[in-house]
Amino acid sequence: MGLNIDIVTIFPEYFGDETSGPLRTSLIGKAAARGDIGFQIHDLRRWALDVHHTVDDVPFGGGPGMVMKPDVWGAALDEVLAADGAVDSADAAAGRSADSGRLVVPTPSGVPFTQAVATRYAAQSRLIFACGRYEGIDGRVVDHMRQRMPVDEISVGDYVLAGGEAAVLVMIEAVGRLLPGVLGNASSADDDSFGGAGGSMTGLLEGPVYTRPRTWRGHEVPEILLSGNHAAIARWRRDMALRRTAAHRPDLLTALELDARDRQVLAAGFPVSGKDMAH
Ligand code: SAM
Repeated sequence: MGLNIDIVTIFPEYFGDETSGPLRTSLIGKAAARGDIGFQIHDLRRWALDVHHTVDDVPFGGGPGMVMKPDVWGAALDEVLAADGAVDSADAAAGRSADSGRLVVPTPSGVPFTQAVATRYAAQSRLIFACGRYEGIDGRVVDHMRQRMPVDEISVGDYVLAGGEAAVLVMIEAVGRLLPGVLGNASSADDDSFGGAGGSMTGLLEGPVYTRPRTWRGHEVPEILLSGNHAAIARWRRDMALRRTAAHRPDLLTALELDARDRQVLAAGFPVSGKDMAH
């Protein structure tokens, strides 16, 4: 097995079933069918032992909303981790740390999820995602788990979702397409926006792309792309990527190594569509 993914959630139905849903669709679904990626979805309420399967309680200190209970999360994570033999509660009590797997806790107050994080996760053998709801999970759960294994609190963007499930799907899609064999030869992640080291898009946003027909509703494909001159096309693509990055994400430019031509392109202004850019 390449990458094993456990997801703990109060909405297991969010992730579909063995045959349909987001984890069985497109590239991720094919990777799962091949066995390159494995999913185990766990219903948190299994570990809520009262008659109502309660997973939340009022916040200490007052305030609106509810907080997810540490005892329920603790029991769930103990069992999920033990299923891989990584570490169980007895091990934890004895101070033994897990040496396999990484716990990922989605939260808007986490560190940003980036292509670099996705690349690191694609090299893991096991990821365990803990989906919060309500006002989030009692803070002691992360503190405790950090004593036992690597834990990341991760944000997928500067906005607040109702729960961690959509954030987990975002991360799985980004990580899954980086697994060996998932994209295939026809496409390389290094040539996409935020591409890896050595790719044509390292640190850049990709510019616009085109396919047939050559003319559509009066809009022409940029002439250079029809030239067959691969070096000139590569340069044009870099120019477009530089301009788009400058226009949409100027913060990314500071980390780039720019040559004289790059600087010239950026100094000339910021058209971001192929039509705006004569060659
Ligand atoms: N009280 C929390 C705060 O202000 O930071 C927000 C809780 S949010 C309503 C409920 C859950 O949605 C979180 O526990 C987390 O799992 C998920 N979530 C919301 N926004 C997210 C984001 N930007 N990135 C990752 N997870 C998010």
